[in-house]
Amino acid sequence: MKLVTRCKSCNKDIIIKSNAATRPDLQMQKGDEFKVNCFNCGKIDKKHVNDIKAEANNMIILIGVAIGVIASITLWVLFGTIGTIGLAIPILFWYQQMDATKGFNSYMIKRK
Ligand SMILES: [Zn+2]
Repeated sequence: MKLVTRCKSCNKDIIIKSNAATRPDLQMQKGDEFKVNCFNCGKIDKKHVNDIKAEANNMIILIGVAIGVIASITLWVLFGTIGTIGLAIPILFWYQQMDATKGFNSYMIKRK
């Protein structure tokens, strides 16, 4: 999962460097409002914690696919069969990402 927000001046996604798993976690780390620096145009913007949105990290899903492929090859070499595990691992990784982003996005902080 990655945390992103949109730059007001160039409309590019800004990635928030944080390992917060939920919105309250992010609020605890950064406060209700915090400054973000756009990597694209360099503008510094102030964002409320509710303006941050979680997205699935495609990199992690790709890693899941890679592990699935390796598991399939290993099964093929050892047992001469390809189990469903090659398919199950990427789906598990994908599901975990979807679940994590949903958990983050569905919880909003009460604005003061
Ligand atoms: Zn920008």
